[in-house]
Amino acid sequence: MRLYNTLTRRVEEIVPIEDGHVRMYTCGPTVYRHAHLGNLRTFMLADLIRRGLELEGLRVTQIMNITDVGHMTDESSPDAVDKMLLAAEDEGLEPLQIAEKFAAAVFDDSAALGILPADRYPKATEHIPEMIELTQRLIDRGHAYVVDSGSVYYDVTSFPGYGKLSGNTLDKLRAGHRDLETDSRKRHEADFSLWKAAGPGRIMKWDSPWGEGFPGWHIECSAMSMKYLGERFDVHTGGNDLMFPHHEDEVAQSEGAVDHQVVNLWVHGGHLRQSGQKISKSTGNVVRVHELVERGLDPLSFRWLTFTTRYRSEMDFTWDAMEDADRHVKQLRRRMAEWSPAATELTAAADGFDRRFRDAVADDLDMPSALKVVNELVATDQVTDHEKFALLGTWDGVLGLDLEREAREDWEPTEEMLELMAERDRARDAKDFAAGDALRDRLADMGLEVMDTHAGTKVRPRH
Ligand code: AMP
Ligand code: ZN
Repeated sequence: MRLYNTLTRRVEEIVPIEDGHVRMYTCGPTVYRHAHLGNLRTFMLADLIRRGLELEGLRVTQIMNITDVGHMTDESSPDAVDKMLLAAEDEGLEPLQIAEKFAAAVFDDSAALGILPADRYPKATEHIPEMIELTQRLIDRGHAYVVDSGSVYYDVTSFPGYGKLSGNTLDKLRAGHRDLETDSRKRHEADFSLWKAAGPGRIMKWDSPWGEGFPGWHIECSAMSMKYLGERFDVHTGGNDLMFPHHEDEVAQSEGAVDHQVVNLWVHGGHLRQSGQKISKSTGNVVRVHELVERGLDPLSFRWLTFTTRYRSEMDFTWDAMEDADRHVKQLRRRMAEWSPAATELTAAADGFDRRFRDAVADDLDMPSALKVVNELVATDQVTDHEKFALLGTWDGVLGLDLEREAREDWEPTEEMLELMAERDRARDAKDFAAGDALRDRLADMGLEVMDTHAGTKVRPRH
């Protein structure tokens, strides 16, 4: 698979560091509010990369963090407030209750959108010792400094590569920030906090060598990604807005700590907008998964909708397009029910479709082209219905549209099948296992999966 690497500004082949195994870190949700479809589009990008790699036969280890401390309302302002604490105050709950509530909600929404679970969801609040240790390492290596208040800042001038990911190099930043009010304790405008001293009344705080405080947002992703994926891993994903400062600062931290490149490929997804507006938690102009359900739309259809646009492009959300996507997906499921069961062998024509689909996915996730192949396959008469069923069943590993849903629900064995099943049960009752096996083979030859249950032989289409 080839992906656009923000770091090199080129489309590059993923060559796993460990043979056959891709390790991927995804910046997860800040759990102070419900996720909206924009956040979920970005989580679906990581899911799509994973599904695409798995289609190629690679193993993927995916880590997605849960940000439950340290993400401030404005990372560049000294007066910013922790989003978690703000929400806790608003809702009259403890910060950890807020985290639990919204983490559970984002898991539900992700499942509804067919996002496969990551291998782990490490929480920032459960990795404070790792963040303190990393911060100490950066101090020891001359990349960070402690100020009187008990806060620790990263010294961006100590890291020559600062700006290589986002293009925000120090000369540009200095010019851009000249007139802005900055934290006077910082040596450079672009220095960012690794650890923040707890102000009066702050409830989420931990002991540290620099006094009571809490970690910066960026350090959590350095600490947790390297803890779970090692000091060199393959892919790191997030939305475009995270490129700077979050990921730029992560590069400075992680590479500053280990003295070599840590992440091979940085992948950033374009935002989702509604009527030209950016959908974001702070503006309130958001669409959530439950609204899809309330309108009678299948949340999985949102997957199809996102596939109509390349992942790096911004995308407009409209209800018309969403309804269109929903019609498409439901129609495909109906066709699948008509076509089942699956062919076991593919002809050259079917193989050709398969290759084109796989090529599109591997080509920097060119899903609009992949959908074109799907539509052409549905329409063609060069390929049998059973082959169509088999191909779409395989491709659904990437699409995640549950295309076999209706086929599963609708399907009934024919009279002939029922007769063979009954015959097989009689043979087995009579302990004539040779006959039983022969009947199993005949059912299997009809494209069926044969199961032995307490109630006797059961069959279903083999997909
Ligand atoms: P947050 O929960 O705010 O920390 O964001 C979680 C993820 O959603 C991050 O990767 C963001 O880059 C991404 N994100 C935020 N807003 C949007 C949007 N409107 N469209 C796509 N992704 C977004
Ligand atoms: Zn992150």
